[in-house]
Amino acid sequence: MALIVQKYGGTSMGSPERIKNVARRVAKFHAQGHRLVVVVSAMSGETNRLVALAQALSRAPDPREMDMVVSTGEQVSIGLLALALQDIGVPAKSYTGGQVKILTDSAFSKARILGIDEAAIRRDLSEGKVVVVAGFQGVDADGNITTLGRGGSDTTGVALAAALKADECQIYTDVDGVYTTDPRIVPEARKLDTITFEEMLEMASLGSKVLQIRSVEFAGKYKVKLRVLSSFEEEGEGTLITVEENRNMEQPVISGIAFNRDEAKITVLGVPDQPGIAYQIVGPVAEANIDVDMIIQNVGRDGTADFSFTVSRGDLDKTVNVLDRVKAVIGAKAIEADKNLCKVSVVGVGMHSHPGVAAKMFRTLSEEGINIRMISTSEIKISVAIEEKYLELAVRVLHKAFDLDRHI
Ligand code: ADP
Ligand code: ASP
Ligand code: MG
Repeated sequence: MALIVQKYGGTSMGSPERIKNVARRVAKFHAQGHRLVVVVSAMSGETNRLVALAQALSRAPDPREMDMVVSTGEQVSIGLLALALQDIGVPAKSYTGGQVKILTDSAFSKARILGIDEAAIRRDLSEGKVVVVAGFQGVDADGNITTLGRGGSDTTGVALAAALKADECQIYTDVDGVYTTDPRIVPEARKLDTITFEEMLEMASLGSKVLQIRSVEFAGKYKVKLRVLSSFEEEGEGTLITVEENRNMEQPVISGIAFNRDEAKITVLGVPDQPGIAYQIVGPVAEANIDVDMIIQNVGRDGTADFSFTVSRGDLDKTVNVLDRVKAVIGAKAIEADKNLCKVSVVGVGMHSHPGVAAKMFRTLSEEGINIRMISTSEIKISVAIEEKYLELAVRVLHKAFDLDRHI
């Protein structure tokens, strides 16, 4: 019999009725003789409510206290699911991240998992219990509660599957798999039966929140068999994340389109065009633990350059503060910020062998009068930054242009 880690997201845990539904599904697997570890998220809307409460009391909440607050949603969920399981006769025991323990570093709100002590879980499993673990949270070496970043319960699920060498990690959510793009934006989006790790990693990092990026990284690194499924449907194979490329003749050039509204652009104007400047700008930003995304530099005729890059919107003010400090040192003229951007990306391993993807993408956008503000590429993706008001239009026309709505 298999050892399975199942993860249920916020919508799946959204009400007592839905929690009963999750309990019934878990009970079904348990009755088949499988050993089960179940990771759950906070009930839908709960984490946002907790963030808003903290923000109502503090303009710049202390990160440690913020994690203390936002981690509580998952504690409620584990207790409720354990109760629901016991109520239908399934022995179950709940654990917070700290109780397991899921050891993380101390980067509050974006902590990384360093290790998992699986002894207690294994003991319970061998006694036939279903183990219910709080997603999204861990504990650092000093005993502080930490959280893993929004959507982090996926990562808890995959990390547990890796630590326990589970046969499969099943991510149950409110869609029945990974689609060619977010089906809420493009109703014609198609469910993919499989997607490669490489592609899923790009899709997740470029904004497809169906899986948190770190969960995909973990699954790739520790060879976890990872599947995305619907918690609302009884049947269905969902989407399997695979190592192997689908090598049949019909391999599409593009597998999916991802987008991210959470982009803000910063331009440092009039910096000298000389070695070391890029480092002097990006270095202090990285030291402040801010991720820099797309970068572009335009060199003018007067020997100065404009250096632009994007960060997530939540990091914008912090980034401007950091740059205000370096502005005088590097001799920049001004710093500009723009919050009205978004990023749209086409992703596909098939791009390797098909020239002309960028040309097609740019033509499609130009036909709609959409101006491209920044571009970045890798072997299997092309991303553009555009004005946010064009996001839905861009995703729809690109989805069509690359034939993603066509059944193959
Ligand atoms: P959960 O609460 O279960 O973790 P999330 O809201 O985090 O669920 O992720 C599921 C959502 O991801 C879907 O409802 C869908 O709107 C969105 N999504 C974005 N891109 C995709 C995609 N390519 N395929 C499927 N869902 C996607
Ligand atoms: N509850 C957390 C969030 O809303 C973690 C998760 O759902 O994965 O981001
Ligand atoms: Mg999620």
